[in-house]
Amino acid sequence: MPLSPIYGDPDADGADCVACGRCCHHSPRTVHLLESDEERMGEPLLRRLTIVETTPPHFRFIRNEGDRCGALDVSEPGLYPCSIYQVRPEDCRIVEPGSPCCLEARRLGHLGVSVEFKR
Ligand code: SF4
Ligand code: SF4
Repeated sequence: MPLSPIYGDPDADGADCVACGRCCHHSPRTVHLLESDEERMGEPLLRRLTIVETTPPHFRFIRNEGDRCGALDVSEPGLYPCSIYQVRPEDCRIVEPGSPCCLEARRLGHLGVSVEFKR
């Protein structure tokens, strides 16, 4: 179930992010982990929150829960904090509040195609 659109510019410092969470709603295999992400997250989080593709080159991704990232904390209705914010992958850091891909996510209710991940 997609989230509803949010119109207007968010706070540039991220004050609106927890009440938004639109960019953390996306298809499976969206948030890819670099080696540096794996080191920062550490084994227990990698085991709990990621999947590794069975075919070469065995990319690792954050696991999805339905149409959202599995690391999103949805324990409080209407709030979407990242449960691993301090160690979140580089892919997540690309989506800056107020950037074109952020505004697209808010408009669509989920991450769109304008985000440019580095692979
Ligand atoms: S879509 Fe933008 S405002 Fe919403 S959580 Fe992501 S970065 Fe924050
Ligand atoms: S790891 Fe955190 S910031 Fe990245 S998509 Fe998942 S919930 Fe959002």
